[in-house]
Amino acid sequence: MTTGFALHSISIYDRGTRIDDALLVIRQGRIHYAGPRRERELPADLPLIDGHGWGVSPGLIDLQFNGAYGHDFTRDPSSLLAVARRLPETGVTAFLPTFITSPIDSYIEKLNRVRIAQQAQSQGGETGARILGAHVEGPFLNPAKKGAHRQEWFIDPTLEALEQLQPLEAVRLLTLAPERAHGLQAVRWLSERGVVVSIGHSAAGPQETCAAVEAGAALATHLYNAMRPMDHRDPGLVGALLVNDTIRCGLIVDGVHVHPLMVRLAYRLLGPERIALVTDAMAAMGMPSGESLIGDQTVYVDETSARLADGTLAGSILRLDQAVRNMVAFSGCSPAQALQMATSTPAAVLGLEGEMGRLAPGCPADLAIWDSSLHLQATFMDGRPVYTAPAVQPLFASLASPV
Ligand code: ZN
Repeated sequence: MTTGFALHSISIYDRGTRIDDALLVIRQGRIHYAGPRRERELPADLPLIDGHGWGVSPGLIDLQFNGAYGHDFTRDPSSLLAVARRLPETGVTAFLPTFITSPIDSYIEKLNRVRIAQQAQSQGGETGARILGAHVEGPFLNPAKKGAHRQEWFIDPTLEALEQLQPLEAVRLLTLAPERAHGLQAVRWLSERGVVVSIGHSAAGPQETCAAVEAGAALATHLYNAMRPMDHRDPGLVGALLVNDTIRCGLIVDGVHVHPLMVRLAYRLLGPERIALVTDAMAAMGMPSGESLIGDQTVYVDETSARLADGTLAGSILRLDQAVRNMVAFSGCSPAQALQMATSTPAAVLGLEGEMGRLAPGCPADLAIWDSSLHLQATFMDGRPVYTAPAVQPLFASLASPV
């Protein structure tokens, strides 16, 4: 049984840098070496694969993902593992299943499903993208910025309400509007318990935003969308975020949710360490156009967008590999920087830098392999191919057995 492999004649993309003529050595499912070819002998005991100039990045990480392939997690949390198994087709190797606003007493079932799915993955045998915990988007949102959420289920984040989010260990990230009553107290309470708090669906102004960041908010949910916009006499939440020095922002780069020019503006101000590309994808991603559901609401899907009957955007049909390509096209950043925004930056949001989203020695060999136009050729998890495009299948066929 093979214990790994070495990939040479590749470019490596790691945390915004690019190394050409690189070598990647995988042993026991982990990264052993990732760096210049000239600094290492080719290992004699492992299969050698010629990468023909491909790019290799860490597997992609999506912090906001409502479902895909006909499944909506809020409506059917039992679909988590089935969707996770297909996500490597898009280069994604880790994600936060996202639940939109639901009745407060219904989260317990959803969060238990997340725990069960995580346990199934940790026991081995599952090939799907890693479920890192839930992103709970709502129910503590501002009705003025409700987007596609059901306003009748919005509540204040009182201690009593927060205590209904059980098991809390399954909550990795929570989006709230800090201007709601008890909002800042909730930011502190959640942050102290290891939940990353994100500001979103919010009409907060600069002072409220600063107070939320001081209380521990570390992220903003889908920058620009469902936020109080920027005006030259009223900077709003957007203005406050763009000039803040610490907070990171999720950004939906499908060309529909945010104008390409505003993507470029965010990139110039925040840079690749503070933008996390997210898909906010919903059940229709990976499906033909037509009617679909998000939560319990009907959504009308065409080639580029998913909308409620009144035209409100309701999640996206964006794949994260496409978001990476769009980011290069819209912002003028390099492929290395675009990949950074879908790997090490989202990992850093979750406090996982050093554990994933990098090609550093010791990290799991979760990899995405790209051609020169940033189209996905293969995805690896723990050093095993979990997705291969038809053209490269023969090259990796010998690695299909466990390493
Ligand atoms: Zn949202």
